[in-house]
Amino acid sequence: MEISQNVDLEFIKTRAYIARHSYIEDMGNQLPAFEKKLMGKNFKVYWASTQDDLVSMMFELFPNKLYNRICFDIPKIPENFSNTKVVQKISVAELENGQANANILVTQADFGVVETGSLVLLNKNCKNCFNLVTNIFIILDISKLVNKLSELETILYLRSFYQTEKFLPEDVKIINRPFMRIEKSKIVGLDEFESQEVQIHVFLYDNGVTKILSDSKLRNSLYCIGCGKCKSVCPVYNYTKEHSPIDLVKANCFEEERLAGNIFKSTLLCGNCDQVCPVQVPFTDLLISEMQMSRKERKDNSGHAKVFAKRKKLNKMSKGLNRYFFLKKQYGANRMLYNYFKNQKGAFYNLKWLQEHQENEQ
Ligand code: SF4
Repeated sequence: MEISQNVDLEFIKTRAYIARHSYIEDMGNQLPAFEKKLMGKNFKVYWASTQDDLVSMMFELFPNKLYNRICFDIPKIPENFSNTKVVQKISVAELENGQANANILVTQADFGVVETGSLVLLNKNCKNCFNLVTNIFIILDISKLVNKLSELETILYLRSFYQTEKFLPEDVKIINRPFMRIEKSKIVGLDEFESQEVQIHVFLYDNGVTKILSDSKLRNSLYCIGCGKCKSVCPVYNYTKEHSPIDLVKANCFEEERLAGNIFKSTLLCGNCDQVCPVQVPFTDLLISEMQMSRKERKDNSGHAKVFAKRKKLNKMSKGLNRYFFLKKQYGANRMLYNYFKNQKGAFYNLKWLQEHQENEQ
């Protein structure tokens, strides 16, 4: 697709939505097809259901049982890697600048393409380190695949627009097959180069995806293309930096999370995320039904849970004195969130949506 500022954004959004829909709704067929393609190209493929699975598989695959130098380029390194003497963590900068070497690089792919059996890595810090290790562990969330290469192009185009307001290409690295690492011969005096195949281990990571998929409402959250827009407009995330709206919605598929009731503390149901999501994840709808589920499971009758899980009450809380007292009581101690809502001109809940759904009030 030609990159131009005159593109019809609605058209691109529709195409991206269709692309996500066609993969997610047919994941049962597409995922095995992707695995077959990867294995046909000599990638090593593993399935990991949970983080514990993922970590123990990686430990099993370490080339050295006693000591490994590992460079991580992932958002959060699991604790197990810190609590062991078998692993020494090397930073991307150390590896790239030649200050240290590593035998494994752990990173994650942002997308996989079923049609071509390719792994797509976006904006990675470690982009210059692939030829510096002999083993690369790549984690891929099983919801982050597209059926065709042309669909990937649409999604990248849209992500770029949502992140930068320009149709600028992201820093894309596509891995189509394991590659050779070329280095100067280690034999002293020999001015030759040696090559060695870099082993690429791909971890197809479930982490709740199949659970979410089995929930007819929640599965919409899997359409996410990772543009980050919902995060940027979320007042709670901007304050706490803990849960983006999409992470919050997905995390609640785990029973422990529902029982902890974190959802009540991590959203204000302002509806900002609903407004901006390019693939129409219905956040307010999902959050309210998750709150209802959470409240029921926890048998929680506290004021906060009651108000947030009931649509009629939410409506009332958006108005006049109710609004004032509610804000004082719930957010009085949190000046930033309190001020955010106090200064908002209109209703702070997604009233339009609430009104449309009032007949369904429980
Ligand atoms: S859920 Fe958030 S990150 Fe995902 S596509 Fe929608 S706005 Fe972007």
